[in-house]
Amino acid sequence: MEIKTVGVVGAGTMGHGIAQVFAAHGFDVRLADTSDAAVGRGLAGIESSLERLLAKEKITAADKTSTLGRIGATTDLATLAGAELVVEAVTENLVVKTELLQTLDRVCGPETILASNTSSISLTRLAAATGRPDRVIGMHFMNPVPLMELVEIIRALQTAEETYRRIHDLALRLGKTPVSVRDSPGFVSNRVLMPMINEAIFALHEGLATAEDIDTVMKLGMHHPMGPLALADLIGLDTCLSILEVLQDGFGDPKYRPCPLLRQMVDAGYLGRKTGRGFYRYD
Ligand code: NAD
Repeated sequence: MEIKTVGVVGAGTMGHGIAQVFAAHGFDVRLADTSDAAVGRGLAGIESSLERLLAKEKITAADKTSTLGRIGATTDLATLAGAELVVEAVTENLVVKTELLQTLDRVCGPETILASNTSSISLTRLAAATGRPDRVIGMHFMNPVPLMELVEIIRALQTAEETYRRIHDLALRLGKTPVSVRDSPGFVSNRVLMPMINEAIFALHEGLATAEDIDTVMKLGMHHPMGPLALADLIGLDTCLSILEVLQDGFGDPKYRPCPLLRQMVDAGYLGRKTGRGFYRYD
């Protein structure tokens, strides 16, 4: 069954970017979240991202109009029933994702592939929660989705070869570079990235240097395009904390313990760019 209609659940940082990329490549997209306000914020995010691409002459005004025209917004998951693929990009939480996948399993046709954009959670566990484990797979886009080339593709133990092949080919159609990774906490990207971000937060916590100076060390000294604290703000500090907890639980290794400062920031609601304040402030 050819993939023509794609459901995207979660219209936050990642979901709206994923919806934009599918729509820009000609797919009909249904973007779902729990409230009209959340869906509205997602659509506004897509509009301003397209506006920036237009200003940089990366797309035309006609591209912007046609991309927006292919995205329908909804708060009713039943409207995703006809999609050949649903990508979930909801909060990084095992219970939230499991319940959502079980609902999608009920409402979607038996052939629909259910992909998760999880950053760290076991695909094997998520697949096992559904009645179609062979059609569950990890499709881990990077932030910001329209600009980042990589998609990590994670096969659950149960994922069928056919499902993997279709998602791999689909990533290529989206202009992305797919990399196949075994199902393991944090996969490759966050297994490597999160300890670095966590260590940068410890350095700040211990007063080694200011946030700006820690980021400058990594930008000018290691040639990173963005410092780890600014990157944590971009990812979302709640998401960083959840990923570190999955790494710590999954490996049982204290080296992944989240820095107490990260927990405090999350407790305070300083989640990074999405709330206007994290290690830096955003207008
Ligand atoms: P976010 O907090 O920005 O957005 C999450 C969205 O999910 C919110 O709009 C929320 O209302 C919605 N949501 C929660 N429960 C829902 C439900 N049951 N049904 C429908 N919508 C629901 O989070 P995010 O940063 O976009 O992360 C989403 C997923 O993408 C997570 O699994 C995260 O680990 C992963 N991810 C994040 C990044 C990043 O840089 N932020 C990068 C790659 C992958």
